Amino acid sequence: MIFNPKKSLGQNFLVDEKILNKIIDIGNVNFENVVIEVGPGKGALTDKIFKKKPKKLTVIEKDERLIKLLNNKFGSEIDIINNDMMKISYEEYLQENLIIFGNLPYNISTQILTKWIKINSLEKFCKKLVLMFQKEVADRIIADTNTKNYGRLSIISNWKMKIEKIIDIEPKSFNPSPKVKSTLLVFVPKKKYHILKDPKNLEHITNIFFSQRRKMIKKPLKFLFNNFEEVSKKLSIDLKLRPQNLDHKTYYKICELYELELIK
Ligand code: SAM
Repeated sequence: MIFNPKKSLGQNFLVDEKILNKIIDIGNVNFENVVIEVGPGKGALTDKIFKKKPKKLTVIEKDERLIKLLNNKFGSEIDIINNDMMKISYEEYLQENLIIFGNLPYNISTQILTKWIKINSLEKFCKKLVLMFQKEVADRIIADTNTKNYGRLSIISNWKMKIEKIIDIEPKSFNPSPKVKSTLLVFVPKKKYHILKDPKNLEHITNIFFSQRRKMIKKPLKFLFNNFEEVSKKLSIDLKLRPQNLDHKTYYKICELYELELIK
């Protein structure tokens, strides 16, 4: 069957055995794991996960043509869901020892990551997430304070996740080849992190700070707090600093104080 990949669905299929095996090694799936793979495509990675005999394997694929292909390949041996990964309520799938895999479609990779991060008590169920991103996005996720890539995505991702970069992947490892490099990252949900009332507040705050990343932080602080000078003293931050100079933890503390202000 001739298959015309859809660009709109980010259909670049992994064809490099070495990389597929690397993802499997990192995932380290065994019979105790419950596995979700989003965007399984033609099932190249699915097949290797399946061979590790997890307790349960669920795949979520939007393209109906691929659903037919996956049904032919795996039948009822795995759970095949024809849906948009952004529309799934993952809370229903939370079981202990969960591992999530995804060679993510570029256009929704940050949205789906943020959706998973926002799941309540994710750390109680999910052991790790093995995810592939466009390299430029991965660089932003793992960026350190005081670098040009540091921003909202780094702060939100590191809030609940310990993140490790595994490897950069060349376009030729995919068919069709994308224009850009990719990067494989592993996320392990932290057992301890700053408890926030609503992660949307962290999104809001980082949005305010980084929408004008060259400006001094006095401006966003003033916008967010009536008592901004008190806040800056409490956190020992110099109002002349720029948003990229504040480390991750300072943003979580700012968010805590912001949430306290909201209920006053
Ligand atoms: N996992 C396969 C591989 O590595 O060869 C395919 C990866 S490809 C980069 C992304 C996959 O996600 C495609 O199969 C595409 O059809 C699927 N996809 C794109 N958008 C999706 C969505 N919103 N929900 C579910 N699947 C989606």
